[in-house]
Amino acid sequence: MAASPILTHTLGFPRMGAQRELKLALERHWRGEIDAAALEAVGAQLRARHWRAQRDAGLAFATVGDFAYYDHMAHHIQLLGCESPRFGFTPGTPELARYFAMARGVQTLSGHGDHAPGSTCGAGCAHAPHPGEGQPALEMTKWFDTNYHYLVPELHADTAFRLGSERLFAEVAEAQALGHRVKAQLVGPLTFLWLSKEKGEAPFDRLDLLDRLLPVYAQILARLKAEGVEWVQIDEPILGLDLPASWTQAFEPAYWQLGKAGPQVLLATYFSPLENHLRLACQLPVAGLHVDAVRAPQELTGVADWLPAYKVLSVGVVDGRNIWRTDPDAALALLRPVAAKHTGPLWVAPSCSLLHVPVSLAGEDALDLELRGWLAFATEKLDEVALIAGLLDGRVAVNDPRLAAARAAIASRRASPRVHRPAVAARLEAAPEGCDRRRSPHPTRQQAQRARLRLPPLPTTTIGSFPQTPAIRAARAAHRRGVLGEAAYQAQMRAEIEHAVRKQEELGLDVLVHGEAERNDMVEYFGEQLDGFAFTANGWVQSYGSRCVKPPVLYGDVARPHAMTVDWTVYAQSLTDKPLKGMLTGPVTILQWSFVRDDQPRSRTCEQIAWAIRDEVVDLEAAGIAIVQIDEPAIREGLPLRRTGWKPYLDWATRAFRISACGVQDTTQIHTHMCYSEFNDILPEIAAMDADVITIETSRSDMELLRGFGSFKYPNEIGPGVYDIHSPRIPGSQEMARLLRKAAEVVPAGNLWVNPDCGLKTRNWPETEAALRHMVQAARALRSAMASA
Ligand code: GLN
Ligand code: ZN
Repeated sequence: MAASPILTHTLGFPRMGAQRELKLALERHWRGEIDAAALEAVGAQLRARHWRAQRDAGLAFATVGDFAYYDHMAHHIQLLGCESPRFGFTPGTPELARYFAMARGVQTLSGHGDHAPGSTCGAGCAHAPHPGEGQPALEMTKWFDTNYHYLVPELHADTAFRLGSERLFAEVAEAQALGHRVKAQLVGPLTFLWLSKEKGEAPFDRLDLLDRLLPVYAQILARLKAEGVEWVQIDEPILGLDLPASWTQAFEPAYWQLGKAGPQVLLATYFSPLENHLRLACQLPVAGLHVDAVRAPQELTGVADWLPAYKVLSVGVVDGRNIWRTDPDAALALLRPVAAKHTGPLWVAPSCSLLHVPVSLAGEDALDLELRGWLAFATEKLDEVALIAGLLDGRVAVNDPRLAAARAAIASRRASPRVHRPAVAARLEAAPEGCDRRRSPHPTRQQAQRARLRLPPLPTTTIGSFPQTPAIRAARAAHRRGVLGEAAYQAQMRAEIEHAVRKQEELGLDVLVHGEAERNDMVEYFGEQLDGFAFTANGWVQSYGSRCVKPPVLYGDVARPHAMTVDWTVYAQSLTDKPLKGMLTGPVTILQWSFVRDDQPRSRTCEQIAWAIRDEVVDLEAAGIAIVQIDEPAIREGLPLRRTGWKPYLDWATRAFRISACGVQDTTQIHTHMCYSEFNDILPEIAAMDADVITIETSRSDMELLRGFGSFKYPNEIGPGVYDIHSPRIPGSQEMARLLRKAAEVVPAGNLWVNPDCGLKTRNWPETEAALRHMVQAARALRSAMASA
C-alpha cells in the first residue's frame, strides 16, 4: 500500500451551475438585459462555488481553466491569439464581445438573399455571407464521442499565435486569492490543432503550425509557474484516437519544448484506450500521466509497467461520463495492484472532466430513495474520488459509514427487481432466427408498397415535427403541472394535429405526418412511457453554449407496458386520405441520448429497446398505418473513437434497428431519418439497416453526401434533404429543384423522395409554409420535366 497520501483532483467540473445559473445569465446578457460585468460576476461566483466543492470534498487541488462562458475551445482560441480573421474585429472590440461573436455569429440587417450557391455570388460562396454582411458563427462539432459541442478553431496557412488573453491567469489569481491549491488546465497543443480546421485558399497542413504554436504554450506555462502554479493538466485526448504517424511523432519533441518552460505537467488522456500510443504517453517528458481507467481498465497494468517510477500516475476510476455510483470495492481492486506496481506517486480522479454529468443530486427529491442511492452526479463524484483515495492510503477507515452506504447502494442496484425483469431477458433469449430481417428483399417490398400507396414519382414529405408554437409548449407545460386536465389537453393536441394535417393537404404534400405536437423531446417522450427509464428534475448537461439537455436515466430492463403513439397517429390518419407516417425514435438514438446502465453491455440494452419499438411498429401496422418512420439521427455519433471498434458497434446497432423495423409485412413501408453527421464513411452499414426509405440531412453541405451515394449504390429509396431547416432562410423552388436534379444524377429518379433536412419544430409556421410550398413546386417541376423527357 502506498505510504504517502494519495492526491486527488478532478479533470474539470460542470460550468452551468446547479440551477443553470450560467445559462440564465448568458441569455440575459445576449438579450441586453445585463452587461458583461454582471455576467462575469455570475461566472466568478460559479467558479468560486465549484472550487469550494472540490475543497469541501477534500480534493488536493482546485482545477482552474475548465470554466467557459460558451466553450473551452473558444477560450483557447483567444488565449492562443488566433481568432479567425473573417470576423474582422476592430482593435477596440472587447474580448468577451469577440468571443460571443465567434460563438454565435454576427447578424446583419441586409440578409443574404436567395440565390443558389455559386450562381450569382461566384465560386466558393456556398452561402457564406459576404464581408460586411455579418458572419456565421464558428462551426460546432461534437467533442470526441460526447454530446458536448465545441467551436472549431479556423486556422490559415499564415495564422500566427500569440498570448492573446489574460483570462486564465486572472482565474488562477482568483482561485489563489480564495486560498486554493491550483492545478491549471489547458487543452494540449496537438489536440488543439487536431480539432481545428484548415481554412483559406492556400492548402496547408495544420500540423505545420505546431512550431509557431509551441512558443505560446511555453509562454503560458512560464507565466503560470511565475504565478506559483505547481501543476498544469494538459489534455491530449487525441492520444485515444487513430492518428497519422506525423501527429504521433510530433508529441515527443513538442513536450520536450514545453517541459523546459513551466510547472509540472500532468498529461491527461481520456475517453478511449491508448493502445498503440500507450508507450508514447508513458514516456513523454512530463511529470505525470492521467489515464481513463473506466474506458480502458485493461491498460492499467501496461501503464504501470511503462510509466517511469518518478512520474505521477493519475488513475481515473470514477466514471465522468455516466451517473452511476462507483463501486468502491471494484475501484480498489483495480487500484491496489497498480499501487503495488507503480512505486511513484499515485493520484485518484474521475475518468475525465465532469462536464458530461449533472452538478448534484441535491434537489432530486422526486426520485425515489432507492434509485437515487444508485446515482452520483459531479458533486457526489468528488466525494467518491476522496473516499477511494482515502481507503487506498488508509486515511479512511474500513468501517467508515460512507463505505458501508456505498456498498449497500451497489448491492441494492445489483439485486433490484426493477432492474432485472426475467420476461425481458427471456424475450431476448427467445428471439427467433431472422427476427432482424424483413420477409422479402427490398425490390419485392417496393412493388407491394407502390401498389398500396400509389404515390407520384418524387413523393414529397417532411421529417415529422411541425412548429412547436408557444401555444403548444404552454399547453404541454400546463398539462405537466396538472393545471390543464387530460381531456382539455387531448382536445388541444388533436386540434394541433388537425391544423398540421390540413396545412399539409393544402400544401399538396404526398405523405403526411401528425406533427409531434405532443412531444417535448424525441427521446424523453418514449422514455417516459417505457419501463426502465427514470427522469431527473435537474440533471442538466451542457450540450453547447447555453443549451443543456436532460438525458433520461436508463436504469433497468426496458419494456413497453402500453402503446405509445398509436392513438395520436390513428387520429391523424383519420383526418386525411393521404398516407400518414407513424413517427418513432429508434433504439440506437434512445440509447445514445440517455445515461445508460453500466451493468450490461450497451448492445444488450439497445436490443431491449429495439423490441419495445418493434411492438409499437407492429401495433401501428395493425391499426392501419402504412408507413412508419423510425428516426436514428444519433446512429453515427455512437461510433467508437477507434476504428477497430466500428464494426462491432455497427453490427449491433444496425441489428437493433432492424429488430425494431422488421416485424411488419412487405406492404408496410419503413422509413428512417438521419442528420447531424457526415455519413459517407458508413454508407454500407446504413444500407444494411434496410429501411425502405431513408431521409437524410444533405443541404448544408450542398449535397456533398450524394458523392458518397454516387460511388456506393444505395439500394433502397432515399430523400436527401433539399433545404436546411436550421436556418430561418427560405430557399426558392429553383434552388431546391437544382439540388434535386443534382440528386437525380446519382440516385435513380424512381427511388428519390423530396423532403427537408430535418424536423420543423424549431421554425415558425409562415417560414414553414413558404419553404414547403417552394419544395412542392420544385418536385412538381421536376416531375413534369421527367414526364416530358
Ligand atoms: N422526427 C423528428 C422531428 O421531425 C426527427 C428529429 C431529428 O432528426 N433530430 O423532429
Ligand atoms: Zn433530423
